[in-house]
Amino acid sequence: MNSPLEWLLALSPSLCLNDRHRASLEALEADLAALAHTDPGTTDRAARSAWLLRTRRGLAGHRPPENAAGGLWQAAAQFLAGYHDLDLREATGTGHGQMILDHAPPALAEYWRERLAAGGLVGIAATEAHGGSRLPEVTTAATPDVQGRWRVNGAKRWVSRLTEAEAFVVFVRDPNGAVTAVVVDADSRGLYRHATEPAGLGGWSWGGLDFDHVAVDPRTHLLGRAGQGTAIFRSHFARFRPLVTACALGSAAGVHDRVRAALAARRDIGGVPRLRDNALIALGQSWAEINAAVLLTFHTLVAAYPGRTDLAARAGKAHGVDAAVRVANRLAPLIGAAGFQRSHPVAKARFDLAALQYADGIHDGLYRSAGKELLDVPAHR
Ligand SMILES: Cc1cc2nc3c(=O)[nH]c(=O)nc-3n(C[C@H](O)[C@H](O)[C@H](O)COP(=O)(O)OP(=O)(O)OC[C@H]3O[C@@H](n4cnc5c(N)ncnc54)[C@H](O)[C@@H]3O)c2cc1C
Repeated sequence: MNSPLEWLLALSPSLCLNDRHRASLEALEADLAALAHTDPGTTDRAARSAWLLRTRRGLAGHRPPENAAGGLWQAAAQFLAGYHDLDLREATGTGHGQMILDHAPPALAEYWRERLAAGGLVGIAATEAHGGSRLPEVTTAATPDVQGRWRVNGAKRWVSRLTEAEAFVVFVRDPNGAVTAVVVDADSRGLYRHATEPAGLGGWSWGGLDFDHVAVDPRTHLLGRAGQGTAIFRSHFARFRPLVTACALGSAAGVHDRVRAALAARRDIGGVPRLRDNALIALGQSWAEINAAVLLTFHTLVAAYPGRTDLAARAGKAHGVDAAVRVANRLAPLIGAAGFQRSHPVAKARFDLAALQYADGIHDGLYRSAGKELLDVPAHR
């Protein structure tokens, strides 16, 4: 296998990908492969970020075929993107902007439907100094002003797409003390950004967002109703986490193909009389792990767990990204020191995947909450 599509097509009956998905994914993969040649590399962060945004805009026409299952298509698209580079995880799709499409008042949702279709990007600002794993304790607060608007004060941390996002879905404590999601335009007066250099997932900028009396109109920029923030966060991530997982597994498949090709070349032209068993075992074990985790990920998306899709998304994200991390760490040493160059795609994948064990859900927390929920399942089920 030397293309990300081959990984998916080998499993396509189980992944419920049909011919319409396939044709459209082939077109996407052709464009992704062509765009990879224009990648400026990771040394100049500003140039990379601009390239990623251009790529997103350039691929904006790629979306699920009409009447085809959109979640499955998007997961497959994430796998293809991750195979090339985890920084391409926003290459297609609505991303965190989906929360606006699902929950904003009609006028704002319509505006963002057009922006996102043109390649616009929305960030999420949930994490604070007290710990991102505890959303109900957010302290960034909205207080009413005399004009009936809210004024938001506080600070968010570790926010990705910091400078590229055109708006953020921000989780605040509303005037009644409940957690509420609001949309804040990135160019709002009183909104300040502080970039931090990330060790992985460095394509998009990352850092802190400070809110100093930022005006938000609750009549037009509230998601759902006041107090529904935690429910919106949860339902969004139930759909978003399988997409993140698919991207991570695409990245692991990319590492697998690179290492496999390097080993095959070593055997065929590199002069080793035979490949040692440890290399063969690592390849086989990794192939099985990737495929098993892909199956679980897509299974989650076809809602095979009635009433438990959120649980499957949480445990599946932790499991799938952990599997991808294991694969990359196991296979990387097989290509020698070359794979430890900072610019090497395998080295980059390892850093990116490690960061993904925190981004979009921290793994001990995800496993723990899944275990807690499973204890409530009657023993005979
Ligand atoms: C690359 C990257 C991108 C990110 N992008 C975004 C983004 O776009 N928007 C956003 O809002 N956030 C983002 N985050 C933040 C991420 O969501 C948080 O890091 C995550 O929620 C965990 O929060 P935290 O780092 O504050 O750690 P904490 O919540 O403090 O957790 C740290 C550790 O402490 C443990 N812990 C928590 N409570 C207890 C306890 N009572 N006892 C013992 N241990 C405990 C946790 O389980 C965990 O192991 C990003 C993070 C990364 C790394």
